Amino acid sequence: MRDEQKKYYIATFGCQMNAHDSEKMAGILNSNDYKEVSSPKDADVVILNTCSIREKAEHKFFSELGRIKMLKKKKPGLKIAVAGCIAQQHGEKLFKRASFVDCVIGPQNIYQIFDTIQHTNRFTLTSGGNEAIAETEMPVFRKTDVSALVNIMYGCNNFCSYCIVPHTRGREKSRASKSIINEILGLTQKGYKEVTLLGQNVNSYMSDLDFPELLAEINKIDGISRIRFVTSHPKDLSEKLIKIMKEAEKVCEHLHLPLQSGSTKILGLMNRKYSYEEYALKVELLRKNIPQIAITTDIIAGFPQETDYDHALTVKALKEISFDGIFAFKFSPRKGTAAALMEGRIDMAVGSERLQQILDLQNEITEIKNKELEGTLQELLIEGIDEKDSRLYTGRTRTNKIAAVPKADGIQKGLLLNVLIKKANRHSLDAVLA
Ligand code: SF4
Repeated sequence: MRDEQKKYYIATFGCQMNAHDSEKMAGILNSNDYKEVSSPKDADVVILNTCSIREKAEHKFFSELGRIKMLKKKKPGLKIAVAGCIAQQHGEKLFKRASFVDCVIGPQNIYQIFDTIQHTNRFTLTSGGNEAIAETEMPVFRKTDVSALVNIMYGCNNFCSYCIVPHTRGREKSRASKSIINEILGLTQKGYKEVTLLGQNVNSYMSDLDFPELLAEINKIDGISRIRFVTSHPKDLSEKLIKIMKEAEKVCEHLHLPLQSGSTKILGLMNRKYSYEEYALKVELLRKNIPQIAITTDIIAGFPQETDYDHALTVKALKEISFDGIFAFKFSPRKGTAAALMEGRIDMAVGSERLQQILDLQNEITEIKNKELEGTLQELLIEGIDEKDSRLYTGRTRTNKIAAVPKADGIQKGLLLNVLIKKANRHSLDAVLA
């Protein structure tokens, strides 16, 4: 590293979309002769890429900001930039709340990160459209070397009543299919084997191609062995998409399909635009066409007006559908969303109790589902050495389960292996070479 080369540090909070935004900001800064460092202490610029999906994520950011403030006291030349959803939400007000912050940049403006950090008291925000970002080719600095995240669209039009994302990331705009395919062709040249297509609602992707057509085109790319995508909205899960998932051999047998509640009344209040029965029918269709598919979901416990009966319907749904895994959270009111103004807020303790019940039940279900895999053959894509045990390699099955296999000659990152599942644990599988 040259002495005069500027150094940056990025702290990323939140979802895969934010993780990928950080990869893009890093790519832009690297191509402008900046260098990433692994500690904020060594940086000239610290970027906090924030998340405001839940209150907890926001608290985490503000406590990190406090630590960076202390660092700036010791190092007055340090530049601090706040990016991501909190930046978009609070905008210029962040300068008032934290006068030591130099720049604020919204998620729709990350392509302007280099220019933004050249200034102090600079806020770079856009509200509404994602046209500019969707049409801008950005260099990406990925730290992974087997599996890559690829944005196919930006923003969301759905306005689920609890969600801040449409307010912070603007309306949907899909990238041109040609640009996505060129990016993936470039990834194959670097040795990537798997792509995860990213969007707030990937199955409403629409350019010259719709989402199933885009999957079919990516499936033709030599060098890519696996295609994943996240997140899908149940209302947009079409028969055409299920058909492609079944036919395109590189599309993995895993779908993350957020249910949120088993009560149709609560789904209505959430503005999810489907009933529990419609959701269950789609799952049935998926399993009929792709019997080995793993389905995971998101659940919100304690949404306003959720009665014991509504909660019991969610518990029933978990038993009926038997998900491979869930992400469950307690309702967290987000300022600016419709749900934050709703009557019938659930007592915090009741929300916590319901959440715990959901998590306990799902743990049992996940264990049973994983046990069913014992003795089966699975294809594993090796991602690297196990972080906890250097005698093992870890990878993922096509159904997105983490499995570990003992080190052996010839096993290396990026290899597709057939393995036999010997033992199922709650969150991982132990395997041996088949
Ligand atoms: S689909 Fe709903 S939950 Fe997902 S980002 Fe859009 S508004 Fe938020």
